[in-house]
Amino acid sequence: MSDVTAALITAKDTVTLRTFPQAAPPPGGVAIDIRLCGICGTDIHSFASGHLHSPAVCGHEWVGMVAATGAGVDGLREGDRVVAAVPPACGSCPECLRRLGDYCRTASLVARGRDPLAPPYGGFAGRIMVQATRVMRAHPDLTDEVAAQVEPATVAFHGVRRSRITPGDTVVVQGAGPIGLLALQFARTAGAGDVLVVEPSSARRRLATELGAINAVAPDEAAECVQDHTQGLGADLVIECTGVPRLLQTAVDLACSGGVVQLLSFLSEPATISADRWLAKQITVVASNAYTHDDFRRAMTFLADGRVQAEPLHSRTVRLDELEVTLRGLSAGPSDDIKVLVDPRRS
Ligand SMILES: [Zn+2]
Ligand SMILES: [Zn+2]
Repeated sequence: MSDVTAALITAKDTVTLRTFPQAAPPPGGVAIDIRLCGICGTDIHSFASGHLHSPAVCGHEWVGMVAATGAGVDGLREGDRVVAAVPPACGSCPECLRRLGDYCRTASLVARGRDPLAPPYGGFAGRIMVQATRVMRAHPDLTDEVAAQVEPATVAFHGVRRSRITPGDTVVVQGAGPIGLLALQFARTAGAGDVLVVEPSSARRRLATELGAINAVAPDEAAECVQDHTQGLGADLVIECTGVPRLLQTAVDLACSGGVVQLLSFLSEPATISADRWLAKQITVVASNAYTHDDFRRAMTFLADGRVQAEPLHSRTVRLDELEVTLRGLSAGPSDDIKVLVDPRRS
């Protein structure tokens, strides 16, 4: 078996290509030939800051083909097209034993890169080994470009599922990156009334309106726009998808009294808030982290029947050896790129 080439973020502003020996899958494991792997905001953050995540998290949005299965793997065969997911709730961890299966510790560790079978790299590689329970067969109606976005779509789906949205709610989405554009669409499928998007990039704003936002505005126009659309009340639900600490307070300022602020982005730095304004409005905060196994199945259904579109989010596909220059561009500041995919088969 030939060696596997993997791209790893090894330090601030540095991607290193390394080769790893290949092994046959151990019991319960599957080897996957990666077809496409998406670049996530966490990869960009890790590259730009030098705060390295588990190497297995670097490149966690992938679609590939099962190349080999280990002993005891049921329901997956060589040649099946699969996407990265998380295992079902384990049934035996402290959370599962307290009927908190949505918060299963074992599944969430795998989501954070602690698959015991995984090699010390992620999906920016020609081949990867994973626990069979954490992949899911890709819906046959999905193109590879959409299948590679099932993971971020599931992040958005999970957030909207937790958001307590009710039919007719006015929703504000802060940030029209991949998660924001997917959350906008899932909010509409969940019965949102008007969805307004706040985003500095005009290209992303245009896409947001194409995907169903009634209006998409620059940050300095947001307060007035939300007031206009809500008779001065504020939005029922504000979904924060920027990860910019100071915009946490802005999210509350855009919400109505009794409104919900949904935290769907990863804030890497502490945020300063005016808690008195949260209190005065009696805001409910709903935080959302990752997903469950079943969320993947459900989110994929929406992508397959076209109610949620990921194809327009795909900006371009690059080679493995272009990952460093691509990450440098994406971390340089506001960009019109939405989702960049890496194809390790290209050379
Ligand atoms: Zn991600
Ligand atoms: Zn569990």
